[in-house]
Amino acid sequence: MAKLKTLANAGVVNSDGFYVVGGRTAIDFANSATRMGSEGDGLASMDDLMQFLKSLGHLHEDEASAYHMYLFQAPDRCQQMMTTLQDVRARFRDCLKQAADGWPMDMGFMTSLNEMLASFHTRLELVPSDGGYEVKTLLVEDGPEQLMYPILKDVAEFLASDQVEKVRQCAADDCELFFVNQSRNGRRRWCSMSTCGNRAKVNAYLKRKESA
Ligand SMILES: [Zn+2]
Repeated sequence: MAKLKTLANAGVVNSDGFYVVGGRTAIDFANSATRMGSEGDGLASMDDLMQFLKSLGHLHEDEASAYHMYLFQAPDRCQQMMTTLQDVRARFRDCLKQAADGWPMDMGFMTSLNEMLASFHTRLELVPSDGGYEVKTLLVEDGPEQLMYPILKDVAEFLASDQVEKVRQCAADDCELFFVNQSRNGRRRWCSMSTCGNRAKVNAYLKRKESA
């Protein structure tokens, strides 16, 4: 737990243990297979997904209770949705690898993503906000699948952005995390200096000392 706190302070994970080195929902989703402080897949269950969305500000506590109903009423449907989402994540990670290596991305993934996005119907609503109003995009239908919307939307927006050519996978052998290289000199190699970057520096130092 002490480790989680340290890494949360360094901005590597959030207080729920999800990696946030991606800097945006789409990339944090790609990195969500591992979660600090928990075994197995970080998004194994719909509860995990709700925690993930809450921790990224996509789901409010009062909205979550409505989704909890689905877990009781339609557990199979919820688990099916999680399987779909894990499959999307695996295919999206393949695309990120292709982009990081300078290859064209799998067009089949874009087609599937478009098919999924087509199943969401939205409406706009003017709602009060701090000192004024804001226009919110609301989903029309109900269902556990609605939880996928903020993720799929950001994956699509990411793929349409200039961040695609800046996506990288951490240079550490034992680290699978992706990040968007926004460093000014474009030389960032590690998911985070607090973890892999530091470890590499220490290893390089020990090597130099050994050969000296
Ligand atoms: Zn790393």
